[in-house]
This record gives sequence, structure tokens and C-alpha cells, in this order.
Amino acid sequence: MTDRARVIVVTGGSRGIGRAVALRFAQEKPRIILLHYDPDESAADETSALLHEQGIEAETHKVDVSSHKDVNGIFHDIISRFEKVDVLVNNAGITRDTLLMKMAESDWDLVLNVNLKSVFNCTQAVIRTMIKQRSGAIVNIASITGQIGNPGQANYAASKAGIMGFTKTVAREVAPRGVTINCVAPGFIDTEMTAILPEKIREALKGQIPMGKMGRPEDVAEAVCWLCSDGASYITGQTIHVNGGMYM
Ligand code: NAP
Repeated sequence: MTDRARVIVVTGGSRGIGRAVALRFAQEKPRIILLHYDPDESAADETSALLHEQGIEAETHKVDVSSHKDVNGIFHDIISRFEKVDVLVNNAGITRDTLLMKMAESDWDLVLNVNLKSVFNCTQAVIRTMIKQRSGAIVNIASITGQIGNPGQANYAASKAGIMGFTKTVAREVAPRGVTINCVAPGFIDTEMTAILPEKIREALKGQIPMGKMGRPEDVAEAVCWLCSDGASYITGQTIHVNGGMYM
């Protein structure tokens, strides 16, 4: 690795889409820092091992990204050691699905905090550094649900629509300083998050996808990495939809 290696932080990098993003970035031999939350470190360890096989010494840190204090602590540590952050991928997310009538206040708060407040926490923690660098790319993982809604996901849809509004606003604030911030909005992707859905619902969802199949985490990772490449340097405040045509 050279000193010019990019410093890339991926939240929710232990599995699913976050892992695919880290593995896709690994091709350029960057310094990768993965944030995850589960006290069972096995998924994070597995991702580290996969990166290690590609010659990357990835760091994994257990941090609750919904905690402003803990996020500031880890980014303070990252920035003081590496003196820069080139890429931030705000990917960590959870669901607590139920119809609005039955939704507990705690499930509303939890989903908004983990999915949306985390994006505020992490973005605010890196933005001063990126502005000083006059460079940086931030990609926020939104969702098709934030665009078109989905019964049982009022909390999740609100968090993901919120991410899109946040992204456009911050894009306008930092564009003059050479920093880009965009969203990738996946459709129905094959990860642990969707594996818990009953087979009947999975089949019904597949029926709504013109391409007739679920997406792979790697499909999302491609869009994320491209948005962080030189080729996308004139793109900011946008949402790229990776959904097999489910929303267009
Ligand atoms: P996943 O397999 O369930 O992975 C979620 C990741 O988020 C894990 O790495 C998890 O860490 C991390 N995480 C959860 N809570 C956290 C917290 N409080 N602090 C730090 N990290 C936390 O989900 P996925 O399907 O890959 O989803 C990734 C993103 O894509 C999410 O934002 C999701 O909303 C979005 N998305 C997914 C789909 C889909 O169809 N799968 C569609 C649209 C959007 P641990 O492993 O340590 O628990």
C-alpha cells in the first residue's frame, strides 16, 4: 500500500451490501475501515479475512452509528491516524416492519436513529476534513422504499426518504469545496435483511421486478464504487437506482 492509498470508511461493513462494497473497493488496494455493531464479531471477522486474502489490512470497529458521541470518537481516531478520509459509505441500516397502526414508538425511534441519524453523525464527523482536503466522496445507501413507499415500513421509508433530502442539502453546501455526496437506492437485494421475509412475500416482490430476479449485493457495490471514482466527479446530490427496473 502506498501513502496515496485512499482511506475508505464503510458503515455496516460486516455483511450484505457493506461487505460487497468493501470487497469491490479492495481492487484498488485502499485502507479500509469497517464499522459494524453486532457483539458477535463473526461476520466482521469473515469480511476482514476476505479482504486480507486480497492483501488488504482492513480495520473493523464495533460502533453504534446512531450514537453521536461514539461516532465522533471513532472518526477522531481515524482522522488523527490517517490525516484524511477519502470515501465514506453510509450503509448501516435495519428494519423493524409492522403496520403503522401497530408500530411501537421504540421501533420508530430505533429505525430513524440507526438509518438516518447515523448518516448525520458520520457525515458531520468527516465533512470538515473533506472540506479541508478539497476532495471526498460520500455515498448514502437509501432504498426504493424511500421513493415509492411500502406497507409496513413507515419508519424505514421515512428514514430513507430523509437520507435523500439530507443528501441534496449537504451536496449544495459542500459542492464548492470539491466534495460530492450521492445516494444509491437499492431495490430488492439478496442479503440477510431480505432473507427474513416469508417466501410468499419474496415471490410477490420478485413479481414486481421487470428483470424477474433479486439483485446481488455486488450490483449495488458497483454503483457505489463508481460514484466514488474520478469518472463521477461532476455528479452530486443524485440518487442512482439499482433495482432491476422495479422503480423507474
Ligand atoms: P444487512 O445484511 O442486514 O447488514 C446490515 C449492516 O448494518 C450490518 O453490517 C450491521 O452490522 C450494520 N448495522 C446495523 N445496525 C448498526 C448500528 N447501530 N451501528 C453500526 N452498524 C450497524 O443489510 P443489507 O441488506 O446489507 O443492507 C445494507 C443497507 O442497504 C441498509 O441501509 C439497507 O437499508 C439498505 N437496503 C437494503 C436492501 C435489500 O434489499 N437488502 C434494499 C434497499 C436498501 P452487524 O453485522 O454488526 O450487525
